[in-house]
Amino acid sequence: MRFVTRETWGAIVPRSQLRPLKDAKVKGIVVHHTTGPAIEPGHMIGAHDRYHKHTRGWSGGLAYNWLVSADGRIWEGRGWNQGGATKNWNDKSVAVAYIGDSNDHLPKSAKVALVTVFDAVHAKYGRDLWIKVHSDFKATDCPGSELRDWVQDEASALLSKGVSEASERPTTVDEWDALIRFLQGLRAAVRASPLRRWRRNNQYAVMAVQNVLNIKGFQAGKVDGKYGKRTKRAVLSFQATQFLPRNGVVGIATWDALFPA
Ligand SMILES: [Zn+2]
Repeated sequence: MRFVTRETWGAIVPRSQLRPLKDAKVKGIVVHHTTGPAIEPGHMIGAHDRYHKHTRGWSGGLAYNWLVSADGRIWEGRGWNQGGATKNWNDKSVAVAYIGDSNDHLPKSAKVALVTVFDAVHAKYGRDLWIKVHSDFKATDCPGSELRDWVQDEASALLSKGVSEASERPTTVDEWDALIRFLQGLRAAVRASPLRRWRRNNQYAVMAVQNVLNIKGFQAGKVDGKYGKRTKRAVLSFQATQFLPRNGVVGIATWDALFPA
């Protein structure tokens, strides 16, 4: 499994409920590393959780929103709730951490996982978010040299032109599926505003649809987030196989048929 929930890795249950981030307040992404070993992330994440909770005294425990491990898995920290890793910025940013020390090494699989998370954050909070590193906010070595260089040289540029154009953007349904909650967010967006031609659609929802249609063999064309003729034709063909009303619109029923829970 590529996505690990809090329940699965055994996060300490916070005494009070975590506070959700407010969409309008989120301005960007702050990248951290946890330091410590990169091996056995399932063990390490528990150790970092206990450290933040008991040693640092942070009631919410593990302070990062999302983490990635060297093996490319994505781990849920505080998720879409307020983090605690970037002083003064915890209600305005999403903290993403690499489990390990990037001064040692930052494997490509971790970078791919990071891009997946950035993509999800973008889809949730908008495309004009900035991406910075912890040392932009205070004198600290975090997130280590390799991550800092990568974020500053590559990841920021990658975000400024839209993650969707990045070569490492997730393109398989397996990778999209990795962020279950992300998909749930898209589902809510589709419920509120079905996807159709000649409409300003949620670009990431359209990409997810195109992607899964292609995998199912319906030939939606390029996964570009644009609901064009080919996408509509593929949706129509898919609907015909599902006994859904053939209208070429992805409403909630078609969405659920494409992405069974
Ligand atoms: Zn940090």
